[in-house]
Amino acid sequence: MKERTLSIVKPDGVEKGVIGDVLARFEGAGMRVAAIKMVHLSAEQAGGFYLVHKDRPFYGELVEYMSSGPVVVVVLVGDNAISAVREVMGATDPGKAAPGTIRADLADSIERNIVHGSDSPESAAYEIPYFFREIEIQE
Ligand code: ADP
Ligand code: MG
Repeated sequence: MKERTLSIVKPDGVEKGVIGDVLARFEGAGMRVAAIKMVHLSAEQAGGFYLVHKDRPFYGELVEYMSSGPVVVVVLVGDNAISAVREVMGATDPGKAAPGTIRADLADSIERNIVHGSDSPESAAYEIPYFFREIEIQE
């Protein structure tokens, strides 16, 4: 089933110069980039994006990290895009991520883990319009 998902190359990914590497891995897995932009989120914008985590102990640090530098936000389209992208990303903790995944190969810690991907159709439906108007998505 053709699906949309939202992915973000996080500030550590941009800083490390792996934007191209991350996007190439998604394209290599059959995903197509349907929208893309670089933004530097304010703390308020990062906090709104991660509102689902507002009661978690790491929320404050997560907001600080996600607003610490520019990020690249993309809408990816493809067969089962949500789960396909999560598979290429690897587990949240790079120490537990499968070999060959983005996080296993590139990430430093459970927080600074290079990349975001929507985890469900409900989160994709919140996250895509958080960044893109329909007219900005080329499907
Ligand atoms: P994922 O990004 O794999 O969907 P979560 O939605 O659980 O993971 O968490 C969102 C982000 O919050 C993670 O990608 C990571 O940057 C950060 N994070 C998650 N768990 C922790 C933790 N235990 N300590 C610090 N940061 C965390
Ligand atoms: Mg998540």
